[in-house]
Amino acid sequence: MPSQTQLGLMSHDELTAEHERQSENYRRLKTEKLTLDLTRGKPSPEQLDLSNRLLDLPGADDFRDANGTDCRNYGGLTGLPELRAIFGELLGIPVDNLLAANNASLEIMHDLLVYSVLFGNVDSDQPWSAKPVKFLCPSPGYDRHFAITEALGFEMIAVPMGPEGPDVHAIEELAKDPQVKGLWAVPNYSNPTGAVYSEAVTRALVTMPTAAADFRIFWDNAYAVHPIVEQAAPIHDVLGWAAEAGNPNRPFVFASTSKITFAGAGVSFFGSSTANLKWYQGHAAQKSIGPDKVNQLRHVRFFGNADGVRAHMAKHRELIAPKFALVLQILEDRLGASKVASWTEPKGGYFISLDVLEGTAARVIGLAKDAGIALTAAGSAFPYGKDPEDQNIRIAPTFPSTDDLGKAMDGVATCVLLAASEKLLA
Ligand code: PLP
Repeated sequence: MPSQTQLGLMSHDELTAEHERQSENYRRLKTEKLTLDLTRGKPSPEQLDLSNRLLDLPGADDFRDANGTDCRNYGGLTGLPELRAIFGELLGIPVDNLLAANNASLEIMHDLLVYSVLFGNVDSDQPWSAKPVKFLCPSPGYDRHFAITEALGFEMIAVPMGPEGPDVHAIEELAKDPQVKGLWAVPNYSNPTGAVYSEAVTRALVTMPTAAADFRIFWDNAYAVHPIVEQAAPIHDVLGWAAEAGNPNRPFVFASTSKITFAGAGVSFFGSSTANLKWYQGHAAQKSIGPDKVNQLRHVRFFGNADGVRAHMAKHRELIAPKFALVLQILEDRLGASKVASWTEPKGGYFISLDVLEGTAARVIGLAKDAGIALTAAGSAFPYGKDPEDQNIRIAPTFPSTDDLGKAMDGVATCVLLAASEKLLA
């Protein structure tokens, strides 16, 4: 049952009645013995099926790229030029400034940070390990980004995230500290809010003075070609604008086909200045003789060209968009009038960010767990897993079936109302 009135305006008696109603809803929910999962942003089996043709590619007699390279053999640290051309067009990056690699862009991000700690980057006068490192973390953000910088012992500084990107003024102030060495950024359909960085925010980030000459922006465009509406958000020329501003080495750009083809068996991309790529390859050459070129060739054959990727993403959109719409509809129907929650309405990407009544997110997640609905751990979108307001919950609508998603979200709404009425009565 939806709450028809704003909970915060209810009298004590009305709130007690509301609490009783939601307790009853919750008791009923538990009798359903659900086992549903809204945690990780994974493609659904139907989405993976869209790429099944890859399993037959490149085919028994097809192992040479356009240059005649035998993809079965060692070598080729830059990745196949044809594949780099396809994604270079999509990402607005010249082929020479874009590498194609193995199945995980996260691995490249991790390596870049490790190389920086061990050796320093092209603009460092000493390895980052020489002094304590601080790193800027727009929050809510991607938990696995924060996990890398936490594992390396960096001090993570949360920066508030808005609909057009992080708070640039806060970042400009923080970047005056020479120990601040970098910033995480997910510019298009950010994880988890769906924010799209505006041109103004992007230009400010690549232009601002930084006390550390070796400051780097980890520009993770994981959802660059993942709109759930007809009109995709623009892809900003972050490398070009940084070069214009005299900071050509500041952005490290990433993308991958994890949410395009197979999440565990796609290809990843790393774009940056010529100097940065040379530096990266110098270190990467110590750990690998080259990427999986057969998988890269498979992807070239599968897509054909950039339009092939766009057409393929339109098929994903058809599967995903109704799931996002369903989540938003249930949130509005069940929670709209109560005013104890707000949520983002992303135009792409993989997540919806739900803010519940302050101080109740962990309780909501606990209630949902006991009712068989798995939600991402409280605080996971914040550095050190600590949501200062205990209010944020990341919803990942893509993986469950529509039926399961509907049931899970209805259950979550009950937990939100129950936790809110508990809190307001306390
Ligand atoms: N970056 C962001 C923002 C993500 O949300 C994800 C996956 O959820 C990744 C990177 C992982 O990318 P990959 O599979 O290329 O390592």
